[in-house]
Amino acid sequence: MERVYNFSAGPSMLPLPVLEKAQKELVCYGDSGMSVMEMSHRSKVFEEIIQGAEKLLRELMNIPDNYKVMFLQGGGSTQFAMIPMNLFKNSKKADFIKTGQWAKKAAEEASKFGTANIVASSEDKTYSYIPVLDKSKFSPDADYFYITYNNTIYGTRYTELPDTGNVPLVADISSNIMSEVMDVSKFGLLFAGAQKNVGPAGVTIVIMRDDLIGAPIDGTPTMLTYETHAKADSLYNTPPCFAIYVAKLVFEWIKENGGVKGIQAMNEEKAGILYDFLDASRIFKGTVVYKDRSLMNVPFVTDSEELNAKFIKEAAANGFVNLKGHRTVGGMRASIYNAMPIEGVSKLVEFMKKFETENK
Ligand SMILES: *Cc1c(COP(=O)(O)O)cnc(C)c1O
Repeated sequence: MERVYNFSAGPSMLPLPVLEKAQKELVCYGDSGMSVMEMSHRSKVFEEIIQGAEKLLRELMNIPDNYKVMFLQGGGSTQFAMIPMNLFKNSKKADFIKTGQWAKKAAEEASKFGTANIVASSEDKTYSYIPVLDKSKFSPDADYFYITYNNTIYGTRYTELPDTGNVPLVADISSNIMSEVMDVSKFGLLFAGAQKNVGPAGVTIVIMRDDLIGAPIDGTPTMLTYETHAKADSLYNTPPCFAIYVAKLVFEWIKENGGVKGIQAMNEEKAGILYDFLDASRIFKGTVVYKDRSLMNVPFVTDSEELNAKFIKEAAANGFVNLKGHRTVGGMRASIYNAMPIEGVSKLVEFMKKFETENK
């Protein structure tokens, strides 16, 4: 069978050259005589892999020296708990912008350890926009201010970051890490599960300002303490070695493709092709307000459930898979992460045009 265009929200496509390189090196990595899956995480060979991955990530994201990079486990969801457990140092209060399920979950988890204050929400319109912020609602004494930078399920993204003054800004970048240029110095902490833009599931990247590490709340388990992993350079216990190795291959691929800047230009082109078509279409339409549209996740609908189902079925039969929308939005969603080639999006649009002609 041929490879399909996979529009899955996650885990999602990996660049083909990365898969091919991993395949070539799968059985025997370099001159180690073994697979990365088989080697000690304390070996010299693996040390080069994990250090190489960090070096590339720092270079590609332009991470300042006073930030620590950690490769952790437990997915994005474990960060929802780790963040309050480690950052609730003073007021034990954090501000949240509720832009969807992921922000909601992060706030619910934080409320187990302190106060989660919702400063704005877009729940009234099924999270189809990024709410306008009223700074007078921010807590000046909050231990952190939390956003989901790109909302995977609803297809919105911030084009302007909230100004939180001295309160550290924490962002979930699980679905837009390395998809667009970000100024890391604006954040106290950034985190991303790998399986959308960076590699296979299993590794979670945390980028954290030095001065925020340490002093977790009483009773925080060792494994959920950032300091544990920061001090041990992510080798306190066995890390997800193979996932880190594939992430390194992805970083190399990003570098070869013009770095994050080059990838962003490609992502803007891809999103442009799809949104331009949706704006002009007679049967399909996007669900998100224009200015907040995500570059990564593009939800769209027709005006009939029947037609949606027909489209999803016929698209799959033509090699465009995983286009079914999230159950809370319905319709369709095309996730067009870094690894989705421009050709995949233009072919999808061609197919949508054909479907439109046949179903008007
Ligand atoms: C997928 C996703 C998560 C959850 O990640 P897990 O690794 O499955 O825990 C969290 N936040 C965002 C924005 C996501 O897209």
